[in-house]
Amino acid sequence: MEFTDHCSEPSNSLSLEDAQARIQKAVPQITGVDNVPLKLARGRVLAVTIAAPNDLPPFPNSAMDGYAFRHEDISVNKCATLTVVGTSFAGKPYQGNLGSGECVRIFTGAAMPVGADTVIMQEDVTKDSTVIRLNRAIVPFANVRPAGDEIHRDECLLESGKLLQYAELGLLASAGLPFVTVTRKLRVAYFSTGDELRSVGEALDFGQIYDSNRYLLHSLLGHPAIETIDMGVVTDDAPTVKQALLDASRQADVIISSGGVSVGDADFVAASLAELGQIDFWKVAVKPGKPFAFGKIGSACFFGLPGNPVAVLVTFQQLVRSALLSMMGTHPTPPLRLRAVSRTQLKKSPGRMEFQRGLFEADGIGGFTVTGLDRQGSHQLLGVSRANCFIVLPKDNKGVMPGEPVEIEPFVDSSF
Ligand code: AMP
Ligand code: MG
Repeated sequence: MEFTDHCSEPSNSLSLEDAQARIQKAVPQITGVDNVPLKLARGRVLAVTIAAPNDLPPFPNSAMDGYAFRHEDISVNKCATLTVVGTSFAGKPYQGNLGSGECVRIFTGAAMPVGADTVIMQEDVTKDSTVIRLNRAIVPFANVRPAGDEIHRDECLLESGKLLQYAELGLLASAGLPFVTVTRKLRVAYFSTGDELRSVGEALDFGQIYDSNRYLLHSLLGHPAIETIDMGVVTDDAPTVKQALLDASRQADVIISSGGVSVGDADFVAASLAELGQIDFWKVAVKPGKPFAFGKIGSACFFGLPGNPVAVLVTFQQLVRSALLSMMGTHPTPPLRLRAVSRTQLKKSPGRMEFQRGLFEADGIGGFTVTGLDRQGSHQLLGVSRANCFIVLPKDNKGVMPGEPVEIEPFVDSSF
């Protein structure tokens, strides 16, 4: 990793994209796997490429409730009626071979009888005792799902690096695989720095505040492929910070701290980090979130987030989230951004990209509108709680008038 000082000159701030690119380049992919039962695999990252063990579906079957027959009987042999000789249920196939002029009552998912190639829907026939008459023209192979229709045996079912979600778990089950090999969990240690911080449940003295960042981070790190280590609040002195960093680097792949990274007021962080590892202090041209530290302590990656809670949220989502996904071995997808028309005036000075808090809604004609909210301070989580999106304003934007288009980033249910 190359490190340069971007803190000394404000003009030397990194753009968000540059910071993201540097981080992506520097973070290693963890090694080590777990073999887990399917039900425990949601949110884990597939560590191997899986080939389909069988054709899916394994046998040709009916897509409809109806009658299975040989198309040749109506197209070549010109049969006007077909005789029903049996039934094929899902799981209880018709055992015989279909003869000329014969058909089999068949249900969705039931195996096609040997000799049959086409299914006509039950609504499209007239049945008279054991004989059916077809009431409409039908093409050969209609309403039949061939064996291997979804995937053939030995074809790639899932690629290594795939984040396993509900569809993949159902898919692995349909391939008959009870266990799956996934990357081991990423170990993330986190702590807050600040003499003013107390944990919830403790009494506050004058000048003290509750630590929100650890709870915010705990929630942001709530991912099935992450194991969190809460290291508590660390006071503002070099030996304590140094010890916390050393402890964290021995047990975790990633260390995340909040606070104490602004230049000047918290030199103890810089000093401790400089001794322990390779750390780069950056000014990332993002509001909220300017001061940011990134580097390595031993083999652990370190992310030093700003102190203000909204800045923690924005820097986590924009800079840390994708790094964690890469370390787990999956490809991060950028957060979804949409275009919306602003209903309100949005104040902004050029120089930094901004993530303002907004409330968006559908405009009823296929687009969206967004309202800028008050409580835009980087210390005001209430503003985030009342919002449902970030309004993403580019670096050079000088403010927005009502009616002008902007980009929004809707909040999603989970942090990932
Ligand atoms: P710092 O970067 O340490 O100077 O912190 C910037 C601001 O964020 C200060 O007002 C801190 O009190 C506040 N802050 C830092 N850490 C936390 C935290 N864990 N929870 C709430 N506020 C915090
Ligand atoms: Mg502080």
